[in-house]
Amino acid sequence: MSKTVGLISLGCAKNLINSEQMLCLLKEAGYTITDDPAEADALIINTCAFIDSAKSEAIDNILECAELKKTGKLKTLLVAGCLPQRYKEELLEELPEVDGILGTGSFDEVVTALEQADAGETPLLLGDLNAPVSEAGRIVSTGPGWAYLKIAEGCDNRCAFCVIPSIRGRYRSRPMERILEEAKGLAAGGVKELLVVAQDITRYGLDLYGKPRLAKLVRELCRIEGIHWIRLHYLYPDLIDDELIRTVAEEEKVVKYLDIPIQHINDGILKRMHRRGSGADLEALLTRLREQIPGLVIRTSLITGLPGEGVEEFGQLCDFLRRAKLERAGVFPYSPEEGTPAFSMERPDTETAERRCDLITELQSRIMDEFNESRIGTVQEVLAEGFDVVAECWYGRSYADSPDVDGKVFFTGKNVQPGSFVRVRITETLDGDLVGELAD
Ligand code: SF4
Repeated sequence: MSKTVGLISLGCAKNLINSEQMLCLLKEAGYTITDDPAEADALIINTCAFIDSAKSEAIDNILECAELKKTGKLKTLLVAGCLPQRYKEELLEELPEVDGILGTGSFDEVVTALEQADAGETPLLLGDLNAPVSEAGRIVSTGPGWAYLKIAEGCDNRCAFCVIPSIRGRYRSRPMERILEEAKGLAAGGVKELLVVAQDITRYGLDLYGKPRLAKLVRELCRIEGIHWIRLHYLYPDLIDDELIRTVAEEEKVVKYLDIPIQHINDGILKRMHRRGSGADLEALLTRLREQIPGLVIRTSLITGLPGEGVEEFGQLCDFLRRAKLERAGVFPYSPEEGTPAFSMERPDTETAERRCDLITELQSRIMDEFNESRIGTVQEVLAEGFDVVAECWYGRSYADSPDVDGKVFFTGKNVQPGSFVRVRITETLDGDLVGELAD
């Protein structure tokens, strides 16, 4: 039996939760967990396969880890998640270094997979993509003080460029009581900030309760003692209704930060990409949100070079961004993915998509700098995360900063407890980050 197991988690927060669940199942089954791949006699790489760059990253990791079979003590290399779900047996044929695969419907079978590999078999576990969301326990790997909370799995939106529905299955909400139970457990374990995630959280509850119940869920989460911040990631624009806006505005614990991926603003492109609503609808929504939620920080994601994006459509996107002044944006060049409706559509070449991505990144960085500069002199509540030995100061995040995707707040002061909230007076900006000192 492989006794010491390592796990490398790639891709998004939703996948990270699957990794945390696999670690918990392995621990419960008696395996020793290591975070040093060189120490492991079995390694699991939990992959992403959303776009080309994610696939390349996964393959690089697989090849690098496979080297440990020759030079280290590694005996078993398993690949889990989106890459094997998308490519199935083909992955084993192309990468003979891999000893077995677990698709996105089989994370809970990780112990079985290792047992099969130990018995000399090649696990090929591709379970039901549309099964209810796993309720396995987790070993939370984030923090201090914060954790992701997955409320649903899969997606029913079927945007024309996206492979997610085919690798993560139909939209399935977790029962509300299970989510609340998990959130209470996280709070009892010291979590103060919950990051509510799913491919699309606005649809939460539609499959289970016949209507979206995100607002109700958020209100219930706010009642949990110990939880101080609730951050909402991935809201599909057209399901953001008045009840949800009121909830965000009224509930103190909900940080005034919403992540609303819009992808583009041009009507023709939105339509071709099977996105619901028009550019005008999106702009009207943003105006409504700004009016009703003072201090709101909006994050979005955008794709450049989508099918149908000529010079005019691209110009429209730039003009929109100059007007909307979104505080946060992730910009990606379009990656045509096999098996999606957009794959065969005519599109700008990759170089153009990349150049436009650089242009938008530049435009957005000026908008983000302006926003950061407007915060100089203010006192911000910050979740302290640790001490930076190089910068010789503490760091953390304000309500306007989500982990991994946004900047940090660096600050000086004494007696700071990582995982707790402090008040920081902002004194300057530094390349997308803020700098300050303890205010109290
Ligand atoms: S909303 Fe669209 S882009 Fe997002 S996961 Fe679903 S299909 Fe993909």
